[in-house]
Amino acid sequence: MSTPPEIIYTFSHTRSDPRAGKPTEPTRQDIEWLFTVLYDTYGPRNWWPTVHGGAFELVIGAILVQNISWSNVERALINLREADVWSFDAVLDTSDEEMHVLIRPSGYYITKTRKLKEFARFIVENHGGDLGGLFALPMEEMREQLLLVWGIGEETADDIILYGAKKPSFVIDAYTKRLIGRLGWEIEGKSYSAYQQLFHDLLPHDVQLFNEYHALIDYHAARICKKKPSCDKCAFANQCPVGLGVTQP
Ligand code: SF4
Repeated sequence: MSTPPEIIYTFSHTRSDPRAGKPTEPTRQDIEWLFTVLYDTYGPRNWWPTVHGGAFELVIGAILVQNISWSNVERALINLREADVWSFDAVLDTSDEEMHVLIRPSGYYITKTRKLKEFARFIVENHGGDLGGLFALPMEEMREQLLLVWGIGEETADDIILYGAKKPSFVIDAYTKRLIGRLGWEIEGKSYSAYQQLFHDLLPHDVQLFNEYHALIDYHAARICKKKPSCDKCAFANQCPVGLGVTQP
């Protein structure tokens, strides 16, 4: 895989007072600082993770990864490829029972079979089975269409838009919310759209920046800022209210 060009923004290297105690809305400086520390610590993540590659796999993977870690998805993708269920028509032509067996490693396989079939039906009926037709739509229209498909929520829609269609829709997930909260910030309303709006308001709408930012948050949260955080190994330790012992995780 080729390394993406360096992200060229000159972002802030400082944040608001981590000892303030009371949560505050993050500023542009805070959101820039967060990215700067993550990028300097881990480097580019080059997402989206792939097994075989291609837009079909990316979309199927974005659905299968709901509520489960990526390592569980890889086996399901290999099974689908080996069974030649590697197009939206093939998904529709495969029985539910066979799909259950193929995607069982990704968990929730009965619900996810329905989600895959609903998405396949949507692409076949509305875009001739070709993701290119969906990806060519203006971003807002694409998002509206995706959210009408059964089983596609905001996070999955934004995964598909950002990593598949390569359009700048910031992805929010539970890791993002947890990290923002632990760093002493609070987003008014706490909804998915409130978090997303914050990133959209404070950052340049750059696909590569959004790609790396979300990937870096997930990388950090999965390894260091876990449910039980490893603050002693964390690059934020002396700039984080939890790491400093000001607040509890
Ligand atoms: S210092 Fe601890 S709570 Fe704060 S970001 Fe790092 S791991 Fe998470």
